[in-house]
Amino acid sequence: MAIDTQFEDNREIVDEHDGHDVWGPVEEPERLGIHGTHVAVDFDICIADGACLEDCPVDVFEWVDTPDHPESEIKADPANEAPIDVDAGRTGRA
Ligand code: SF4
Repeated sequence: MAIDTQFEDNREIVDEHDGHDVWGPVEEPERLGIHGTHVAVDFDICIADGACLEDCPVDVFEWVDTPDHPESEIKADPANEAPIDVDAGRTGRA
């Protein structure tokens, strides 16, 4: 399963966390929604393998504890999404 690429149309912002939006539904601790918008992570499918933390060149992600979530008890939170110009590398691309 992958993140819903149309989540901005299909979901509502229900909260804010560390400077980024949280897209519902959220029913803690089992359903945690999508964190972030430009660097969005679906917490409900994140398995906490850490690949994004290892590969991100600008350190967007930080681990956050999510006890009792069925997929994993930590998640890669896009905690540093706000200060990053995520569109800079897209200039001139379709
Ligand atoms: S840790 Fe990162 S790469 Fe791994 S599942 Fe979670 S969001 Fe995806």
